[in-house]
Amino acid sequence: MNPDELAGFNARVASCTACALHEGRTQTVPGDGDPNAEILFIGEAPGANEDKQGSPFVGQAGRVLDQLLLEIELTRADVFVANVLKCRPPNNRDPLPEEIETCEPFLSEQIRGIRPKVIVTLGRFALQYFLPRASISKSRGKRVRCEPYLLYPLYHPAAALRQGKLMQILRDDFQKIPQIIATAERPSVEAITTASTAVEEEENSSTQLQLL
Ligand code: URA
Repeated sequence: MNPDELAGFNARVASCTACALHEGRTQTVPGDGDPNAEILFIGEAPGANEDKQGSPFVGQAGRVLDQLLLEIELTRADVFVANVLKCRPPNNRDPLPEEIETCEPFLSEQIRGIRPKVIVTLGRFALQYFLPRASISKSRGKRVRCEPYLLYPLYHPAAALRQGKLMQILRDDFQKIPQIIATAERPSVEAITTASTAVEEEENSSTQLQLL
């Protein structure tokens, strides 16, 4: 994604009123970082701090993310960080399935634009955005092919803050990121285009099936 595309994207997110979450937001939180990064981190949804500042992971969970990045000699400027939802759910409740579905085109556009070597999903909602039936405890710390992308599911930093024993697991899983990046390749533009056309066809055919 070039800077103009990114600015245009952010402006479209900022004016979105497609679901009720726009009514309670201070501002949208589209995502931050290098729009050509090799690593895309995907979290769940903005919380109170993110809603105030307009950037992802700027509260306590964000400080954990910064520290874990530092330990593998990366900063936020080296990666891109986004969320499944671009607006804060009230009282930080879980995203609803219809909110995820409504917001889906934004994340999907970011993924296609950034074309990262690896997508690090943080927590259950980001993992299940790609693989609805996957379990975080079984998938975490493993490379998962989700054509044309390579996923690396991890626990959410907020979960590690709540349950101390997950922090060391998250830290150990983070340590493997440099090696994963060293061997991964960016999906080609062609592979991404083919995959999104296949999804569209699948959606059309399931609509047809429902109509029949
Ligand atoms: N938790 C998330 O999932 N995303 C944020 O941006 C902040 C906290």
